[in-house]
Amino acid sequence: MRTKITLACTECKQRNYNTTKEKKNHPDRMETKKYCRFCKKHTLHKETK
Ligand SMILES: [Zn+2]
Repeated sequence: MRTKITLACTECKQRNYNTTKEKKNHPDRMETKKYCRFCKKHTLHKETK
């Protein structure tokens, strides 16, 4: 079963990505390096509600 999550940039706090995750595989908050168009670089994105 997949859960909808939002990924927010940890530097500018913008919510840049909507995605889904397998809750079984990632019970904790996911952290992913993704491109932030506000910071214009790759930053760490954290799962948020
Ligand atoms: Zn950013």
